[in-house]
Amino acid sequence: MITGKNQIGSIKSANGNVVFRSNNPKTNTPNPWQFIEATEREVNDAVELADRAFLSFSKTSIKIRQELLNKIAEGLEDSKDVLIEVYCMESGLPISRAITELNRTVYQLRSYGAYGASEDFNKTTEDVVNGVSLRKVNVPIGPVVVFGSSNFPFAYSTAGGDTASALMAGCPVIVKGHSMHPGTGELVAEVIAKAVSSCHLPEGVFSNLNAQSYKVGQQLVMHPKVKGVGFTGSITGGRAIFDLASRREEPIPVFAEMGSINPVVFSEKELEENGSDWVKKIVKSMLDGAGQFCTNPGLIIALKGSALDKFLEEFVEVLSKQDPQCMLSASVHDSFDKLRRTQMKRKGVITLSAQRTPTELNYSQATLLKVAGVQFLEQPELQEEVFGPFSIVVECESTTELIKVIESLNGQLTGTLNCKEEETEFATAVLNALSLKVGRLIFQGVPTGVAVSESMHHGGPYPACTDSRFTAVGGDSIKRWLRPLCLQNIPNYF
Ligand code: NAP
Repeated sequence: MITGKNQIGSIKSANGNVVFRSNNPKTNTPNPWQFIEATEREVNDAVELADRAFLSFSKTSIKIRQELLNKIAEGLEDSKDVLIEVYCMESGLPISRAITELNRTVYQLRSYGAYGASEDFNKTTEDVVNGVSLRKVNVPIGPVVVFGSSNFPFAYSTAGGDTASALMAGCPVIVKGHSMHPGTGELVAEVIAKAVSSCHLPEGVFSNLNAQSYKVGQQLVMHPKVKGVGFTGSITGGRAIFDLASRREEPIPVFAEMGSINPVVFSEKELEENGSDWVKKIVKSMLDGAGQFCTNPGLIIALKGSALDKFLEEFVEVLSKQDPQCMLSASVHDSFDKLRRTQMKRKGVITLSAQRTPTELNYSQATLLKVAGVQFLEQPELQEEVFGPFSIVVECESTTELIKVIESLNGQLTGTLNCKEEETEFATAVLNALSLKVGRLIFQGVPTGVAVSESMHHGGPYPACTDSRFTAVGGDSIKRWLRPLCLQNIPNYF
């Protein structure tokens, strides 16, 4: 049942007087529940509880932590009907997406548990130097704060990848619930609290705090007993939290996965031979989830010519047949609309897509723009992420200019190349340039669709992420919450 209260360990707590509601973006009306923002005292209670739980939780066996993750997965499956209903009411996303995302979240929990408990993951390094025994192990860093995102209420929020990986590492977690989906957050938090209790773990292993203002999140980041932060969201938000954590007397790591425009490069030959197939794939990738994915293809780079002209003609035609989709909230919709209009007005930018204003509020208008390479290079503002169904096509005069365009890009989560196998010279030049900018290189594909697996890397140079060495998706994401400890001549019973 949704009570609107904070989950502090095993207790539901609501001592504050700041209240807020989530909205249903489809009906543009407030949802029925009222949430109570955590007070300064409640924030402190949650962190103190996490700190007290830390030592014993960090010493639990990896099998117990795996059991915890499995119990959370089971609890989510048992509550799936109500979870999906509230998810849809708070996000405006369709039921099919809610089901896929819930399944992904459950899979993440189980697979991180299995990988984190595997021999491979827990390998230690041991050697003897001049009669001294050295053993290097990994230990959890301490209580971790998780900021979930608006666009993944299940998979990158309360029981999402950051929470699953931190718990598997042995770090207690305090979630700063997302203000757009606090009802989904409360239900998921209840599942986690029950799993903590049924595994006989200390209650401070998990808390979930409500907040509509930034105050709660900022207090959490500044609390001296918090030792790390996981964040998924915008560049502005991630950077603000990173800066705050760096200004602490004891700076702590912030693993923020932020914005990306995910360049997709096409060779002329590829467009000539398979342009129509690519139109279908790219439109789907651009519109999935109303374009509200961090791997949305926001930038398409190709050489000027008849193959590109034909591709764009078909692109616009297919786009014109797509229905507008509901966006996550009025604020996400308004920020999308404002930003796309700003980009439409920049020097040399041509709007290719038909501009039909959707009849329903909070519905998106897919936007495709085109700009010449030289003008793209002159205006770095064109690289700003427009969160939603939006792409800019950069039309280049030559391969040299195309490479310059790639070289001018900020750090990205992904970079894609679609060309023929035999175009090795072009491919090598493009892949070399892209590899310096991205966390994942894709050949013959689209950037959306991030597999949860050990070989996945979901990260990249800044501003895609604050630390390009780590991934936010896949079992290796657990490594973010561990630090090496060298044991010199320490007896084995420790
Ligand atoms: P967000 O605004 O960055 O928020 C993520 C989380 O961080 C939320 O819990 C938010 O609190 C908190 N937060 C943000 N700025 C903060 C600050 N200065 N101090 C403390 N806490 C802060 O990301 P989002 O909610 O996913 O998306 C919202 C907007 O970001 C959208 O309009 C979208 O255009 C843009 N965006 C999102 C993504 C993405 O991948 N999710 C990518 C690019 C752009 P509240 O819950 O109180 O807001």
